[in-house]
Formats: sequence, structure tokens, C-alpha cells
Amino acid sequence: MTGTPVVQALGIHKSFGPVHVLRGVSLTVHAGEVLCVMGPSGSGKSTFLRCVNQLERIDDGELWVRDELVGHRVRQGRLYELNEREIARQRRGIGMVFQRFNLFPHMTALGNVIEGPLRALRHNRTDATAAARRLLDRVGLSDKYDAYPAQLSGGQQQRVAIARALAMQPYLMLFDEPTSALDPELVGEVLDVMKTLAADGMTMVVVTHETGFAREVGDTLVFMDDGVVVESGPPADVLGAPQHPRTREFLSRVL
Ligand code: ADP
Ligand code: MG
Repeated sequence: MTGTPVVQALGIHKSFGPVHVLRGVSLTVHAGEVLCVMGPSGSGKSTFLRCVNQLERIDDGELWVRDELVGHRVRQGRLYELNEREIARQRRGIGMVFQRFNLFPHMTALGNVIEGPLRALRHNRTDATAAARRLLDRVGLSDKYDAYPAQLSGGQQQRVAIARALAMQPYLMLFDEPTSALDPELVGEVLDVMKTLAADGMTMVVVTHETGFAREVGDTLVFMDDGVVVESGPPADVLGAPQHPRTREFLSRVL
């Protein structure tokens, strides 16, 4: 990949109390790239995404998101921590989709999608509603504008969650095992939406164990183990001929 770097992690570390979770993660995500992340449970995949999105603060290393040092600013050679407002500004352009859909249960699909643009972007209701309808159409839910989450299948809820993230007009989308909580027959409809998004040029980091998706849609596959990147490369190479013993062991269980 040769596009502009959107995310650059340089030896980042993160601990929770005595638990050293990220132990020097380095990787780059370029504009328009789909970077898939695999690795055993507990290897730090979610923590890494949460650091990129500033839901967690890194302890050491450097994390650059779109030419800005995340959580810090250097001015006249000195390092300043960003305040909450500046962090919110940095975070605003990053969409995140979780394993659990986290929709507002008391709001319709449309209500969920317009909430961010109304409150955070201060769009007017007419524009936000028109944009939300277009996004729900785009994820295949043109007949579900007025449905509440409880009336939707898991796959439909996850597609609303994707539309809701897109409504903030992100330049980067983070997906944390977006299909892991779904019944197998609903996985495909969510992956299809993500595939369309990738084809439209969205920069994406996708934590997933869907090897078919990684192979077909991913530009790069990163394998994490115990808080570090142990292997990365074109998905077909990593999946077809894994070099690291931990990658081999993991893939023998997943494939
Ligand atoms: P993965 O997503 O690869 O399964 P996680 O990033 O969720 O891994 O977790 C990595 C490790 O960090 C786990 O041991 C987990 O228990 C620990 N961890 C994650 N978040 C917290 C937290 N907020 N407080 C304490 N420990 C945490
Ligand atoms: Mg996780």
C-alpha cells in the first residue's frame, strides 16, 4: 500500500494495572486500505482499536492518526496532553462498530442514525434525516427506517450500527469483531455491507476471524499475539503460508 498513512502506531504500550497488554505494537494503515487483524482472545486487538479511538490512553510509544499525535500535541518543542474537547475533536472522524451493536433501544433505526449528526455535528433535522435515509438505503434497510432495535435481527441491527457510524462522515472505520455475535446465517449480510464500503474506498481496520473476508477484501492481514504484531502481509500469504508458529497454531484452529 502506498497511500497516505492514516494510522501509524510506533511501539505502543498499554497496561491495565499490572497487566501489560500492548507490548510495542507497530503498524501502519494507509488511506483506502482495509487492514484485517486476527489473533487469539486476549492478545490486545480490542485494546489497540480503543487506543486508536482514544477510548484508552497509551502509556508509551507514538500513535499518529492523520498527521496528529493522538492525545498529545507538541508545541515549541514541548509535549502537551490534549484536553477532553480536543480528544473529542480527534475522535469525531473515526467510526467504530462493536461486536454488540449498542443501538439506543428507545430510538428507531432512523433515530439512531440521526442522533450523532444532530448533537455532535449540529446538522439540522431535515438534512440529517435525508442523509440518514440514504445511509439506511445503502446498508439495505430502506424498509426499516421506523423499526426499533428489538424489532430487527442481529444482522439488521449491526447494519444500522454501521449506518450510524457512517453518518458522522468518518475518514476511518474501526470494526471490532462485527459478526462474532451473529447467528451464522446473518454474517454474510453484514460482511457484504463492509465489502461495499471497502470498494467505495473507506479506510478500515477490521478485527475479524472471517478468513474469507480477509482474503477477499483485506489488503493486509496482521496477526497479533500477546500484545505484539507477530506477522503481517497480504492476506493470501499470511493465511496460505503463515511464517510464525503462533500464526500457524491459531489458523489451524480457525480454518
Ligand atoms: P482481544 O480483543 O485480543 O481479545 P483485549 O484487548 O480485549 O484482547 O484484552 C487484552 C487483555 O487486556 C486481556 O487480558 C484483558 O483482560 C485485558 N483488559 C482489557 N481491557 C481491560 C481493562 N479495562 N481493565 C483491565 N484489563 C483489561
Ligand atoms: Mg476483542
